[in-house]
Amino acid sequence: MKIEKDRVVRFHYTVSERGAHARGEPSLETSRDREPLVILIGHGNIIPGLEKAMMDRQAGDSFGADVAANEAYGEYREGLSQRIPKKHFGGTQLKPGMQVVLQTNFGPRAVTIQKIGHSVVDVDLNHPMAGKDLHFDVEIVDVREASPEEVEHGHVHGDGGHHHG
Ligand code: ZN
Repeated sequence: MKIEKDRVVRFHYTVSERGAHARGEPSLETSRDREPLVILIGHGNIIPGLEKAMMDRQAGDSFGADVAANEAYGEYREGLSQRIPKKHFGGTQLKPGMQVVLQTNFGPRAVTIQKIGHSVVDVDLNHPMAGKDLHFDVEIVDVREASPEEVEHGHVHGDGGHHHG
């Protein structure tokens, strides 16, 4: 079964900054140490460039895909720093450069710690992969039809998907 809109795909991925392998730098993130990712195609659940590269592939396919920043997490934007009271970080030991997830009015958001003061912390609100041209290595594990309910909700239900309380 081919990957197209309203189908559910399970896949493994490893993402690196483009050219990182050649420079001997490590990957940024991989699913290889956990369960594959499960997503519903055609509902904005993954970055557009990766979704495009997956179209028409099928279970068992392995491929590499170059995704430019504007098709991934967007360009890096200056001036996206914010000063946040330290208490919002709980007991976490903070270090500059570290990535943490903050609960915001817009839902959870990954931020990068810039500077740690006595009572406040400066964070960079850009996505950690913003401004980066990326390379994905992908292995398609399986592909199935989405249920009508999944299509209506715009996300996957069941194993590895969304659970409604
Ligand atoms: Zn749902």
